[in-house]
Amino acid sequence: LVEIQGVHKLFGSHHVLKGIDMTVKQGEVSVIIGPSGSGKSTLLRCINLLETISAGRIYVHDDLIGYREVNGKLHDLTTKQIAAQRREIGMVFQRFNLFPHKTALQNVIEAPTQVKRQSKAAAKLKATELLEMVGLGDRADFYPSQLSGGQQQRVAIARALAMEPELMLFDEPTSALDPELVGDVLEVMKDLAKSGMTMIVVTHEIGFAREVGDTLTFMDAGVVVESGNPREIIANPQHHRTQEFLSRVL
Ligand code: ATP
Ligand code: MG
Repeated sequence: LVEIQGVHKLFGSHHVLKGIDMTVKQGEVSVIIGPSGSGKSTLLRCINLLETISAGRIYVHDDLIGYREVNGKLHDLTTKQIAAQRREIGMVFQRFNLFPHKTALQNVIEAPTQVKRQSKAAAKLKATELLEMVGLGDRADFYPSQLSGGQQQRVAIARALAMEPELMLFDEPTSALDPELVGDVLEVMKDLAKSGMTMIVVTHEIGFAREVGDTLTFMDAGVVVESGNPREIIANPQHHRTQEFLSRVL
């Protein structure tokens, strides 16, 4: 479903991604780990068109992300085409970026009603289901400030799912949470994985990687150092940089 080929990203002269190759099959959970500054967030942001890549290609469902290819030449997409591609990809960030002046339910129905032009009634029905799915059926009318960080993050997941994306990206979704709230969010992500959602998850939760991940990729300094079966990599990392990193987070 996701095909990343030789992706480079430069910010000015700062070379952040140095030729990333990665494949994520339909229904797979791909976990990315790596030290701070290694380019994990940048890679997710490139997939989600929050950044434009400097070289290489990203395909989601055979759709070239960010460009249109005609006779081997790349052309920029229109704003409309970019919006259409972004709709297929849900993203959850480290900091729950909910609208503070909207309730949980209003947050979840915002995009379906505004972007997809769904009727309010249909969107509400779906949103209620999603909030129940993330364990917040009784919190629909609460404002973000009345919810714990873990609850807010679960609303953020429900909000991303409301657009019925084919791919979900998670950028350290639990790292801003108090330890006792992490489990509930990981549980929701685990259920989502079981339901067959294709997911790319940047996280330092090695237990989640081992239990839920189909592949584990270790990035360092803008390159993929090692990638493969999570259990094998965690038990027996091949590269010394992976060993060093795992010894610090385990
Ligand atoms: P962390 O674990 O701390 O979240 P990360 O692996 O997600 O780290 P990135 O956020 O992708 O790392 O950043 C990789 C590098 O790119 C960093 O050196 C960062 O300073 C740089 N960078 C990221 N975004 C920008 C930007 N918009 N402009 C310039 N440099 C940037
Ligand atoms: Mg990051």
